[in-house]
Amino acid sequence: MYDIKTYHRADSLNKALKLLVDNPEACLVAGGTDVLIKLRHHNKRLQHLVDIHHLKELTYIKELEDGTVRIGSGTTFTQIMESDIIAQTIPSLAQALTTVAGPQIRNIATIGGNICNGAPSADATPPSIVLGAEVEITSLNSARKMLLEQFYLAPGKVDLKHNEIATAFLFRKENYQQVGGSYYKYAIREAMDIATIGCAAACRIENGVFRLFKLAYGVAAPTPIRTPTAEKAALNQPVNEDTLNKIQQAVLKDVSPRDSWRASKAFRLQIIHTLAKRVVIKAIANAGGSIEHD
Ligand SMILES: Cc1cc2nc3c(=O)[nH]c(=O)nc-3n(C[C@H](O)[C@H](O)[C@H](O)COP(=O)(O)OP(=O)(O)OC[C@H]3O[C@@H](n4cnc5c(N)ncnc54)[C@H](O)[C@@H]3O)c2cc1C
Repeated sequence: MYDIKTYHRADSLNKALKLLVDNPEACLVAGGTDVLIKLRHHNKRLQHLVDIHHLKELTYIKELEDGTVRIGSGTTFTQIMESDIIAQTIPSLAQALTTVAGPQIRNIATIGGNICNGAPSADATPPSIVLGAEVEITSLNSARKMLLEQFYLAPGKVDLKHNEIATAFLFRKENYQQVGGSYYKYAIREAMDIATIGCAAACRIENGVFRLFKLAYGVAAPTPIRTPTAEKAALNQPVNEDTLNKIQQAVLKDVSPRDSWRASKAFRLQIIHTLAKRVVIKAIANAGGSIEHD
């Protein structure tokens, strides 16, 4: 069933990086929940594996002195959901991860694997994008950082070279302080189903006005996206029904969903429109705001 030619278990990050250099055809495996499914199809690109699962250097959640929350890429969904640091700083990420699969998968699947797999439906991505997350990418001789929203290049493709490992995700204090976040995943089945559409919002409200507003979707385009037109319609505008309606209308200019066996394009557009309001209302409440009525 499987066609594995070589398997190396790395005992340090440095060893993993060297193994990648020495094995130009190797594929990294963390929790393996995506890789193992691809392996079943005798995928020729997956005959050589470098295993980074359980690397302590990649498995942690820290709050740095400047308030940045740093999540190692090998941290599992369960560890994130159970973290006090996450609960106190970026609770909307933990809330989003409760929608992923079941406990067995969440116990082994890593945030790094979810994001690096490049699927437009990855549930960790929209809530991280609206919180301004950055991804740290490390190779033997260098390290670089980029905004997560720029990391996705095409379906299943992220901005990683063969010799690089995504080592951490960074959430800066200025992007989460006094910010209310929310995520809703629309799926056909209530349990164990990937998103038909995923929608995340984050906002900061001062004196009844949106002073920070970000809205992102999964599966609304070939890659996860932010919604610049909708965000412009809300920024510095009063938190009221009129602005919510403008966000809903504007968001349709930002998305390009497709027809698939899971849902038609028309149905996805309807969900996108509906969720814009529903998810933003929740984010407003989580930011301590309320909606003004005329
Ligand atoms: C039954 C089932 C249900 C699921 N339901 C959901 C769901 O509801 N929502 C959802 O979003 N996902 C779901 N998934 C998908 C999956 O669990 C996630 O994408 C998971 O987070 C992947 O993490 P992993 O550690 O298992 O990655 P792996 O399978 O080990 O790796 C995935 C990819 O990322 C690469 N990679 C891993 N770590 C790194 C790193 N640190 N740096 C660079 N590249 C790396 C690997 O080379 C591979 O290409 C489901 C999977 C299963 C089997």
